[in-house]
Amino acid sequence: MSEVLSKVPLGAVPDNLTIPQFFLDYKHPLKSTHKQNAPYFIDDKTGKQYTEKDVLSRVHGLANGLSRKWNIGEGDVVCIFSPNHIDYPIAIWAVHRLGGIITGSNPAYTVDELIHQLKLTNAATVVTQTPFLGPATQACKAVGIPAERIVLLDEAPRGSPHVTIEQLIADGVQAKQNFVERKLAPGEAKTRVAFFSLSSGTTGPPKAVVVGHYAVIANVLQMTTHNAVVEEQNGVPPADRRFRSGDLVTGVLPFFHIYGLVMGIHQMMFNAITVVVIPKFSWPDFLETIVKYHIQNLIVVPPMIVLLCKHPATKKYDLSFVHLCYSGAAPLSGSLIKDLSQVLPNAHVGQGYGMTETATAVTMTPPMVKVGWSGTAGSLLPGVKVRVVTADGKLAGMGEPGELVVWSPSNALRYHNNTKATDETFLDGWVRTGDEVVYDEKGEITIVDRLKELIKVRGFQVAPAELEGHLLTHPDVADVCVVAVPDDFSGELPFAFIVLHEAAAARAATEGAAIKAALAKYVSDVKTNYKWLAGGVEFIDVIPKNPSGKLLRRVLKVKAKEILKAKPLKS
Ligand code: AMP
Repeated sequence: MSEVLSKVPLGAVPDNLTIPQFFLDYKHPLKSTHKQNAPYFIDDKTGKQYTEKDVLSRVHGLANGLSRKWNIGEGDVVCIFSPNHIDYPIAIWAVHRLGGIITGSNPAYTVDELIHQLKLTNAATVVTQTPFLGPATQACKAVGIPAERIVLLDEAPRGSPHVTIEQLIADGVQAKQNFVERKLAPGEAKTRVAFFSLSSGTTGPPKAVVVGHYAVIANVLQMTTHNAVVEEQNGVPPADRRFRSGDLVTGVLPFFHIYGLVMGIHQMMFNAITVVVIPKFSWPDFLETIVKYHIQNLIVVPPMIVLLCKHPATKKYDLSFVHLCYSGAAPLSGSLIKDLSQVLPNAHVGQGYGMTETATAVTMTPPMVKVGWSGTAGSLLPGVKVRVVTADGKLAGMGEPGELVVWSPSNALRYHNNTKATDETFLDGWVRTGDEVVYDEKGEITIVDRLKELIKVRGFQVAPAELEGHLLTHPDVADVCVVAVPDDFSGELPFAFIVLHEAAAARAATEGAAIKAALAKYVSDVKTNYKWLAGGVEFIDVIPKNPSGKLLRRVLKVKAKEILKAKPLKS
């Protein structure tokens, strides 16, 4: 099978607009218009709403406020360290209007993890909320960001040095415009940086993926075209389409992750769907929110579907009004898809596949497909080209597994300040995914395995290299390899094989359990909870390596699975 191009062509993608210019100011023919006064966003907790007018005026006010206060502009990096918030998109677009770059950070990060991101991206301003001021303040201090440059999305504690977003907007709205909005030359959107999104890619610790304005605009047009073309071809009336103007969607996927960012915010806005902003997934509150607002579209990750299917609370709710349940970021099993048809009897179930480096979706199930489909990750989005490459570097035959290599107008540009990693993953505009797939006669992709090191816990990335690097600093550890073990709820969990130094090895016969617990704690003390060694810790005499010293992860993955089969984890 040679190189394959998507069956559906992609129309022209504007390459001279920034993200806010495209999504807020420009009327693209595929763009749906919000019904009169329909809000763009609703805050789940308070019911606060922003209409188009509110969004435009707040974005302008904040851009002006940020420009007046700190002269934020071209290339300046602002880190948003916060759960989803109704002003999260406002902050993104305000910074973009100024020519700045956003890096979204997981609010569950520990101080060390946040320091890593701030250093990596050279951020000089941090936007957060009061419950996260502790780690934000410590991390800012460590990298030399003054406390005054921490902006709060909620209210500032009395006497604190921080400015609130409300103060900046109020100042910016009433003051004379202090900035000149960045206009782009034709083609410039392709290289103008919009986001630094963290990902470990195929190997090594988390890196900053450089995502251009054009990539996000292209991916939204790719997804929208993909739906529209199939629906047109099948004569689907507007009332039965996948995305229906005036609908609502769960804004529960984290906006700091590319999936929540591109699909959760931009794709929904472009299709005139109101985003109900949910700060944190909590169960069964999630069901309450769906029913309270009558949310017809659920954009989720597989662990949320596990709860929907298996938790008794779901039975108490009538979810018959849900007409779309869309999953991504991790594999969705065939058995779950079947169970879902009971829980969401009227829903189209779809799955998308993509990665941060392809910003975002590469394949999607077509819109017409109902629950019960075969479980493939769908067909190539318009404008996508793929190659499937076998282990010996040849192009795979039809139905033969191999690594997926992707060309898409949405591909990210590079890893920031990391030529070595860039050269390994970004090949003349193509991205090596590190995922093993099969391409079939129908033009659909099935993900069969992950060749890269990455572990995905509840859809979140865990980089083995990050945990291995940390564990190697422990005095008892001589060598280590962290692999993924399967888990029904989380998808995968990290499991560590440890080679102990001589002295610790001598104690292991009598103190083995205590040493394992200490090593697990050594990780949980400084890493956010989904990176903890919840799969287990096991001692091993030597980490198997090939003659050139590369860890044989696959061998250990099998071994870890066997260990857990003999002694399953307590759920
Ligand atoms: P991220 O960059 O965090 O979005 O992670 C991307 C990786 O998640 C991909 O390279 C895959 O390994 C995995 N992934 C994303 N979507 C799917 C899917 N639908 N099925 C299986 N794996 C997926």
